[in-house]
Amino acid sequence: MSFARGRELVLTPGPSVMPDRVLRAMQRPAPNIYEGELVEITDSILRDLGRLAGTVGETALYVSNGHGVWEAALSNLFGPGDAILALASGTFGHGWADTGRVMGLDVEVLEFGRHAPVDPTALSERLKEDTAHRIKGILVVHADTSSSVRNDVPRLRQAIDDVGHPALLLVDCIASFCCDVYEMDDWGVDVTVTACQKGLMTPPGLAYVMFNGKAAAIARANPVRSPYWNWSPRTQPERFYERFCGTAPTHLLYAQREALDMIAEEGRAAIFKRHALLARAVWAAVVAWSSDGPLRCNIEDPEFRSHAVTTILADPHDMLQLRRWCEDEAGLILGLGLGFLVPEFMEGKSVFRIGHMGHLNPPMLLGALATIDSGLKALDIPHGSGALEAAAVVTATIS
Ligand SMILES: *Cc1c(COP(=O)(O)O)cnc(C)c1O
Repeated sequence: MSFARGRELVLTPGPSVMPDRVLRAMQRPAPNIYEGELVEITDSILRDLGRLAGTVGETALYVSNGHGVWEAALSNLFGPGDAILALASGTFGHGWADTGRVMGLDVEVLEFGRHAPVDPTALSERLKEDTAHRIKGILVVHADTSSSVRNDVPRLRQAIDDVGHPALLLVDCIASFCCDVYEMDDWGVDVTVTACQKGLMTPPGLAYVMFNGKAAAIARANPVRSPYWNWSPRTQPERFYERFCGTAPTHLLYAQREALDMIAEEGRAAIFKRHALLARAVWAAVVAWSSDGPLRCNIEDPEFRSHAVTTILADPHDMLQLRRWCEDEAGLILGLGLGFLVPEFMEGKSVFRIGHMGHLNPPMLLGALATIDSGLKALDIPHGSGALEAAAVVTATIS
């Protein structure tokens, strides 16, 4: 017997829940891809995204996923042999570093493990040793979707400035964009990469690179830019198709436009507040479960937890079974444990993640938490009581 009827709820950390309005916006015939409305829609998307990132810099759009803009950013700025420092506090930090390594960059990883943010002091110590200023770029992930850690970008900028190092600061905001507060220019970030399928509530396939004047100047002097990733024609096109290096992703642009309209209607500040509240509701439930049993938040200090995703540990219990139960019996799809492929975490099986990004409201989230609570009971996984009460107390503070 399964009760997985009704509308399925996918709370993996991306792609996030797609609003009906966004899906409907794509139900249109193919447009003119050379002039007219599509040109205006694209311009407006780029303008809105810059505002959402808190930058007056330029925004390049790519037909790609997040991995693509990792490569795009590196390809515009660096060439083989250039020294890059990657700050890793989860799988995605390593992923970006690996991309650079395959491209022939001289990548060094500063490792901060799976359970803690990047330490600004360790960063400034490392930069101090680089008296010749060989390091050209510093890569960091704002919210690493595997560990659910959120790094303190302003403090990392401070750590770079404290030692007067000139390296560019590149930030991956793919998971955090429109979920966690982010102020690219105020925080002194030179390059931001993001993608459309998480906080931006759009089917996967669009990704963005924002860059400031300092990065633009370095890119102009870089001789080895690839034709596809080159951001100059994309931001300063002579013809519209140069924005995409080819055919425009027509229907994704309609979808992205509609999602940005929804974002504008709600307001950036309200969106950040909603994500903070829903995240706290998740944590409150986990704290209650943790009072009697193995479940706990992977990131101990709430100040360093992402508002978009929560990684939950339950060693030595098999959370694959819990995810299966939630999906097969109840229609709730949760995220698997990513980046925990070690015996301590049963090769990732004792870990699961709840995505709480994008188009989500209290009944969706409270329903998911109640379903997880049921699954823990059904499978006899030890857990403290009162999780739903604790989450409801948090959502009661909406106004
Ligand atoms: C999802 C994600 C990526 C990868 O994006 P893809 O679209 O899957 O290529 C990279 N970084 C972070 C932080 C992410 O959450």
